[in-house]
Amino acid sequence: MTARGKIIIISAPSGCGKSTIINEIIKNPDLRLEFSISATTREPRRGETNGVNYYFMSVDEFKKAIADDMLIEYEEVYPGRFYGTPRSEIDRIRNRGRNIILDIDVMGGINVKNKFGNEALSIFIKPPSIDALRQRLNDRGTDSPEAIAQRVEKAGFEISQSGKFDKIVINDRLDVAIRETEDLIKSFINS
Ligand code: 5GP
Repeated sequence: MTARGKIIIISAPSGCGKSTIINEIIKNPDLRLEFSISATTREPRRGETNGVNYYFMSVDEFKKAIADDMLIEYEEVYPGRFYGTPRSEIDRIRNRGRNIILDIDVMGGINVKNKFGNEALSIFIKPPSIDALRQRLNDRGTDSPEAIAQRVEKAGFEISQSGKFDKIVINDRLDVAIRETEDLIKSFINS
């Protein structure tokens, strides 16, 4: 019998390389990971597809999903923009005999860990320092100086929550952070 699929939660402040790390580890066939597709009320970005990157919803549809108890957690990650994890994703991926990877914000990560306990491993990806994070956001060039200041301020709060995660990975060198994350997942799913 195959073991019941486990839940891997990855959270990080914006600009810490979380998406890059997830996109790499998901390719490792030994980890048998499948990405949980979240629901969101934000607009699709260029190149994003409904049902692949997110389930894009109106605010009314999202409210209905909450009322119908279809989300295991949800957060207003940015003002007016809601994100949530559909219960059906956990079942869909488990039925395929695979482990579930959740890319969710820090508060959502803490909530899912509290809900699933030992069935879940929560990993916090941390920047080497706040200054390094500010530098990365500047180099990325996608945000205005005001937006960068906001993200940096939020990051300070998020980092203060990192002790609530099972494990912390510092993303100083990307290749090292990817290997560390893979090793943590490997030992968790084999335990
Ligand atoms: P983005 O809009 O850049 O795709 O995502 C913004 C933030 O929302 C990211 O930190 C991402 O991890 C988070 N997020 C995505 N899906 C969920 C979800 O289902 N629940 C929560 N709480 N956060 C999510």
